Amino acid sequence: MRLVAIVLIVVVIAVPGALLLLSGGTTLKIDPPVMAIGVATLVQVRIENPHGIRRLTASVEQDGQRRTVADIHEPAHRWTFWRSHQGPQIRHFLAGKQQAPELHDGKAKLIVEVVSNDLRGATDSAEADIQIVTEPPRVSADGAQHYINQGGSELVVFTPSGYVTDSGVRVGKYEFRSFPLPSHPGERFSLFAYPWDLSPDITPVVFARNTAGAEATARFWFKVFPKKFRQRDLTIDDAFLEKVVNQIDPGGTGDLLNRFLKINGDMRRQNNKTLADLRFKTADHFLWSGPFLPLINAAVESEFADKRSYIYKGKKVDEQVHLGFDLARTQHVPVPAANDGRVVWADNLGIYGNCVVVDHGYGLQSIYGHLSEFAVKAGDMVKKGQSLGKSGSTGLAGGDHLHFSMQVDGVQVNPIEWWDEHWLKDRILSKVSAQ
Ligand SMILES: [Zn+2]
Repeated sequence: MRLVAIVLIVVVIAVPGALLLLSGGTTLKIDPPVMAIGVATLVQVRIENPHGIRRLTASVEQDGQRRTVADIHEPAHRWTFWRSHQGPQIRHFLAGKQQAPELHDGKAKLIVEVVSNDLRGATDSAEADIQIVTEPPRVSADGAQHYINQGGSELVVFTPSGYVTDSGVRVGKYEFRSFPLPSHPGERFSLFAYPWDLSPDITPVVFARNTAGAEATARFWFKVFPKKFRQRDLTIDDAFLEKVVNQIDPGGTGDLLNRFLKINGDMRRQNNKTLADLRFKTADHFLWSGPFLPLINAAVESEFADKRSYIYKGKKVDEQVHLGFDLARTQHVPVPAANDGRVVWADNLGIYGNCVVVDHGYGLQSIYGHLSEFAVKAGDMVKKGQSLGKSGSTGLAGGDHLHFSMQVDGVQVNPIEWWDEHWLKDRILSKVSAQ
């Protein structure tokens, strides 16, 4: 009898008690944060509960009224939840006038509630103060002519209106940020590239969108000049492989050629990503003036977007695109800053060896690779012609030369245009000053 009582106590009290103890709350977060919703805005919620959730309800509160916009039920496993352990999860739903037609433009509150998938079934919630914005964004572009070289740069001025939180230029899969046009309230401009890897038949557009998920685009007058990029064979031998592989990847093991191919492929991509990410370290004003300086009296060994075939022991082993100019003079020549700016990188960068990147403002940056020594450090302001360091052969370089490149909002462009005073005046300066 006593045994039965103990068993009963265990079954009736202890087991559910333990299950209750195992039950817990849910951590939830509206992420990315939502500031506004429109007609049907996608909302993402991050959920953390080891047992998962069995219900998610989203509602919008406006004028003291709550309206449900989403109600998601998930299969409940009340008694088996303790067997499972769920990692962080993501749920999506649409919220807006389509889901709750009574909503009108103005202030509101978004409320997300979840019920945890365990015995207690605790409810947790997240809230955000939002704006209902159903007025669409609008955008119109300048009336200027835009002659664009494939692989080159261009500038467009435009006027967004309505509710806009993000605007710029889109060229195929690429987007370029915009900035307020100095002394022209309401107008913005975007320095953009026509990336070398896009076919020349894409129509660039200006766009204006808002956090409620609505977007407007507009065309502008343009003409693209297709460029035929060069094809080059680069013969590599064991001496070259040994030099670059042991310098760039000293701890590595294995076949020399394979190590080289990894550097030439994976590391090249990583290094270019690091360069592209420097676009966020840009000044919101022009730091430069006049044409950019090339390295004078130098022999041009490679040009922008040369497609290189790597030949080893008579066989093609790799192919990569060279996104800059290789300029050779003599050994250890001072490398001048192409224009005024601020140093945003002065450090080793894989295939680029000792590398300096100078920011010139509004997403425009110049890149100097393979240096033997630095004369500047990150954060330094530099003047056009000032020495950044000395040329060398660090990184993926056979001999002493300067690898020079420029990028527009993280996309590498042909620097030749920026050396040309005429092009600068016609294509860039006339558009920002003559508005
Ligand atoms: Zn190069």
